[in-house]
Formats: sequence, structure tokens, C-alpha cells
Amino acid sequence: MTKQYIQVAIPVPMRQLFTYSVPEALQQPIIKLGERIVVPFGHRKVIGIVIGVENENTFEENKIKAISARLNDNFHLSLPLVSFLQLCAHYYHHPIGDVFQQALPVILRQIEKVDLKPPMVWHATDDIAKTDIENLIKKAPKQAALYQLIAKQQGISWSELRTLGYNKSQLNALDSKAFICEKQQENRSFNWQENALNTEDKLRLSAEQAIIVSAINNTVASYACHLVDGVTGSGKTEVYLQAMEKILQQSKQVLVIVPEIGLTPQTLSRFEQRFNVPICLHHSGLNDQERLNTWFNAQQNHAAIVIGTRSAIFSPLHNLGLIIVDEEHDNSLKQQDSFRYHGRDIAILRAKQLNIPIVLGSATPSFETLQNALSGKFTYHQLTKRAGKSHQAKMALIDVNQEQMEFGLSGTLKKQIELTINRGEQVLLFLNRRGYAPAINCQECHWLANCVRCDKSYTLHQKQQLLICHHCGSQKRIPPQCPSCGSVRIAPVGQGTEQLEEKLETIFPQANIVRVDRDSTRRKGELTKLLQEVSDKKYNILVGTQMLAKGHHFPDVTLVAVLDADGALFSFDFRASEQMAQLLIQVAGRAGRASKPGRVLIQTNYPEHPLLQDLVHNGYHHFAQQGITERQQALLPPFSFQALIRADANYPSYPDKFLREMSAHNFTDCEFAGPVPAAMEKKSGKYRYHLIIQSKSRKALHQAILEILANVAANEWQNKVRWSIDIDPMEL
Ligand code: ADP
Ligand code: ZN
Ligand code: ZN
Repeated sequence: MTKQYIQVAIPVPMRQLFTYSVPEALQQPIIKLGERIVVPFGHRKVIGIVIGVENENTFEENKIKAISARLNDNFHLSLPLVSFLQLCAHYYHHPIGDVFQQALPVILRQIEKVDLKPPMVWHATDDIAKTDIENLIKKAPKQAALYQLIAKQQGISWSELRTLGYNKSQLNALDSKAFICEKQQENRSFNWQENALNTEDKLRLSAEQAIIVSAINNTVASYACHLVDGVTGSGKTEVYLQAMEKILQQSKQVLVIVPEIGLTPQTLSRFEQRFNVPICLHHSGLNDQERLNTWFNAQQNHAAIVIGTRSAIFSPLHNLGLIIVDEEHDNSLKQQDSFRYHGRDIAILRAKQLNIPIVLGSATPSFETLQNALSGKFTYHQLTKRAGKSHQAKMALIDVNQEQMEFGLSGTLKKQIELTINRGEQVLLFLNRRGYAPAINCQECHWLANCVRCDKSYTLHQKQQLLICHHCGSQKRIPPQCPSCGSVRIAPVGQGTEQLEEKLETIFPQANIVRVDRDSTRRKGELTKLLQEVSDKKYNILVGTQMLAKGHHFPDVTLVAVLDADGALFSFDFRASEQMAQLLIQVAGRAGRASKPGRVLIQTNYPEHPLLQDLVHNGYHHFAQQGITERQQALLPPFSFQALIRADANYPSYPDKFLREMSAHNFTDCEFAGPVPAAMEKKSGKYRYHLIIQSKSRKALHQAILEILANVAANEWQNKVRWSIDIDPMEL
């Protein structure tokens, strides 16, 4: 028997593979790349992934350990997935074992034998009389809709139904009438590939849409990146759906990536209604078993479509034919800790690797993507009209210096709110600050309640009677007296959504008001419920944070107001104005969906500010064009490439010295900025510094990082700090 050695990715924070030998007894069946195996590491046993197989060994024989066991199950990674993950680790300079970890569902990271329990799913009972169904439609339309949805499925789980916005009592009602029953899901051995697609419900495409669909369809056999640039309601989703049709007809799978809060019941049911194929969801609301099921269904080709948030890009889709990234500009596509990948960027990488098309969609494309589209790297498609009769909302600025302000509302805005609700239409008020007030202070000595771990003020949460630090999460009771001078005159400063909701109740006592933010939607299913109530016209006024800015359709909202647009105008972060513009346009996109025209009012202290003027009068694309030109002149991304090295420690001098040492070498064609303290210098008790490395050449940047990594071991401060690399950083 020949000796066999394998290279294994192991879940440890080291940028290397580990070599193991395979004992003779374990050499059959042939060991494959992508296989999950059990190996000893230190005193533990861990799951590793086989990345290389060799018959020779370059290490000292006696230093090599043997693998402990093989799992011989069905949960290995395919070859293309293995090389994709290797590419990701390489691109982001992230420890390869951790990249593999993050791509695996939790259950597959554990050594215990994997028990793939078929989930419990609901089926429609076979012989329900037509008249019974007609009765149900009349008496309980929600239950009827739920019944019809279940009847279309080959079994659907409660968690999927909950994601779709249904509740337990509707389900129980149907159950007790014996319209539906719950069973363990049968092995999905049926072939969706053999079912006819349901293409009856598709819409007649506009000329603009038809051109895009055929452009995508013409490239199905090779890599191409298409940008579909169109305002909310311009028909992007319809383009995705019709482009997907051809892929599904060829029995290939489709992956749809959406932002964290973009996975709305409306989106999902639109996909479900259009195609007669199994769809699997991948998002943070699933439990471990459900995640495993999605993973397995993707791998076994049981799922035709996977819809999910950013980490769905690692789904082991076996026969992937098309990737769609909706809202490609959205920040939630970038993972902001440990493995800091950008879901859009690696989606492009995966499409290239598989030689398949990818479609990016947005009403406000990121400057990076726009530049790629303008320079011809991506195919650029624009949808210039809203589908149907509706019109683009009109934007206007309100100069708050000229206004009588009450609780953050200008006189002009108050008047407009009143007129709108009197017409029976809805108002959306946007304030990107949750809680009651962003600070409390003493009115006599001006003492401010600060989180000592972050040096930032606590946010007051009135309902919970707590001070909460939004940076580290620490909580504190509200002091009855000023700890500094003893005065009892302690008062909130500024305004958050909780307070706005309370004040609106006094200004508009006849109105029904709802608040939508992270606090009011903490419970599972709560967001879906609130959104449903909004579309049922239960509320006149919606108050919310950026949660309300994304993805949701509010056909009856005709007035949108942004209470404070000034945050980003004077930021040192070069992306702040881009993000402000995207947010304002996205918020504006919620208005006037139906044939009623929408209005957007933006309150500001700086109505003459050129950025606001440009955005309001010339629109996002003009604004973006200016912004891209400025980036070009300043040689900022996308005209250069950046990496950010962050370091933190209990004392400020450690990260500073660590990064100083790191940058004290010569690197070709790279510029260094820093080290400097991070924008939030102190967080959770740690002092944070960073170093920016920038280059016009991606290759030079990559090379510099490799050298930096090689030098780290000799850096005398390395044991005193925590540090990380962020390639193409999105925030400083
Ligand atoms: P987006 O994804 O850009 O927000 P959608 O695809 O959701 O746009 O389209 C907005 C609305 O217009 C939807 O209600 C959709 O059904 C409708 N719509 C889209 N395309 C067409 C079309 N070609 N004909 C008629 N209605 C359309
Ligand atoms: Zn005081
Ligand atoms: Zn804090």
C-alpha cells in the first residue's frame, strides 16, 4: 500500500493548511477533495476539510499525525466549491480553515453523526370540496390564501410559512377544519426538472425589460455581469424572474442574494407563485436543522432556487446556472467581522469561476459597480420608467433654520402630515436613531451619561427604563440624581424614534401610529405582522429607522419625510455621502407606489449644501457621476484599492506601536495612511487604531499584505493586540 498524505483546512485562526497521513485502513474508499474528516488537533478532535491529496511528504515523518476517522456521509463539498473557498481565503487573506467553517452549516462543523431529520411540513388535504374552498375565501380570506399556498407546495414548513407572514392561529384554524395536515417531509426524490414550469402568470415585458432579459439569456453559457439599474417599482424583479425562467428550463439552479431585511414575504411569494419548483430559504431566522436542510437540498439538486442573505453565496448548489444579487449597494452584503467578505464581490468571483452570468440590481448602484458598468466591465442596463402608472416621488428640502420646530418637526412638515392623513393616505417618517433620546444630561452642571467602555453617550430607552450603549450593548439604570452635582434635573437630549412616536401621539391624537425599528420588531414574526398591518391600512403614520428604507412596498404612503439629513454631510469617511444619497433615495422609493403621486420632504440645517442640492435637483445618477469624478481625482476606490488593518488593545499605545512597526518597511507601489485612532477610538473598553494601505494596483496591494503577514511573527507587539485585515473596507 502506498503512503498517503492529505492537506487539511482546520478551523483555527492560522493562514495555513495542515498535513496529515491517512492510515492504510482508512484509505478506502478513495479519499476525495472536499471530504469532511476527523483529525486530531492539539488535545481536541476537529472536523477538517480535505484540500489536497499527495503521495509524498515534505515534512519530518514523525511529526505528522494520522487522521482519526472518516465520516463517509453525503455532506462533502464539491470540487468547484472547494476551489471557490480557496479563492476567497486568498483574496481576503483570511485563515482558510475559518473560511471553510463559515461556509458550513453549524451541524456540519461538529463531529457527531449528522442526523438529517426530514422537517415536519404541511400538506393540503386531498379531497376538499370546491364549495368549501369558496366558502373559506368568503369568510376567512387570509386562511384561504394560506390554504392555497400550502396546496401549491409539495410540503411547506411552519418556519417558511412564518417567514411568509402567516401566523399560528391561521394555521391551527385550517388544521382543525382538516383542510391541511402535518407530516414528515418525504425524501425529495421527485425531479423538479421534469415538472413543467408555471409560466402563465408572467407579465408582458416592456421594451426596456425585454432587451435586458434577452441580453441575459444570450449569455447563459458564459460569465457576464449585468447591472440592472432602475428605481423601485421599475420592474427589476420581473426581469430577474423572466431571466431565471430560461435557466430553470435548462434544469439549472438559481441563487438569489438579498440584503438582510430584503427577504420580505412579498418577494418570496412572488417567486413561489411564478415557478412550480422547490425554493429553499437561507437566512438568519433558520435554526441549525433547517439550515442543514437547505444546504443539503441545494447540494442534492433538490432545490431549484435558493434565496438568501449574504452567506447564501456559499450554498453548495450543485448545478448553478445564474446568480442574482438584489440591492447590490446594500451594506449588509458586507460581513463586518471575522471573515470580512463582500457578498456581491464574491458572488462575481463565483460566477466567473463557474462561467455563468450574474445580475446585479439596484435603484442606487454603488459607485464601484457604476464605474464598472460605465467602463464596460459590466453590461449596463437601465430601467428608466416605473412599471404601471405610478410616478417617481418629488423631493424637496425644508430649511429648519427658517421654521418653527416642535419635537423635531417643522411647521411645514406638520401641515403636510395633517393634509396627508386627512386624505386617508399614509405618512412615513424616517429617523435613523432608535431609542428615546441619544443622550441624557444634567441641566445644571451639564454632566453627560457616558458609557465608560466606549466614551460615547448612552441612549435612553424610556419604555424599558434603561440606558443602553448602542456600541457595546452595556446597560445601566437611569440615575435618579446627577452623580456629579446631585441635581435631580436630569433630562433627555435629542430625539430617537421612541420619543418621536410618543410626541406624534400628542400632536396627532386622532392618528394611528406605528414604530418600526430594531426594538419594536425584536420578536420573531413581529416585523412581518407590522408590515402586514401597514398594508391593511391600520396605521396613518409610520415611524422608523433604516429598517423601513429597504425592500418593503407601501402603496398607500404618499408622504415620506426625513427628519434629519445632516449626519453624513460633514463626515471624514469618503463613503458617507454615497451612503446618505442611497439611503435618501431608498426611503423616497417607498412613496407613491400606486397611482397616487408621492412626495419626499427632507429637513436640514444646510439646504444650500452642494451634495443635497445636487441629489434633490439632479437625482442620484448625476450625484453619483460627480462623486465618481471626485473619487477619480482623489485616487480613492474604485480608482485605487484599499486594505485596512485594525488593531485594538487595553492601552492605546499597543495598537499604535504594533501598526507603526508593521508599516515601517518598504512596500512597492503602496501608500500608507496612519496608524491613526479609529473613528470610535474606544469601544467595549478597547482602544482601536487602524492603518490604511492603498495602491493603484491590486497586485501590489496583495503583495504588500503578504509581506506584512510574513513580518507579523517578528513584530514585538503582536501578542499584546488583537488585529485583523479588511480587504476593500467599507467602513473605517
Ligand atoms: P422592482 O423590483 O424594480 O421594484 P417590480 O418588478 O417589483 O419592480 O415591479 C413593480 C410593479 O410593477 C410590480 O407590481 C410588478 O408586478 C409590476 N410590473 C413589473 N413589470 C411589469 C410589466 N412588464 N407589465 C406590467 N406590470 C409590471
Ligand atoms: Zn449635575
Ligand atoms: Zn459602550
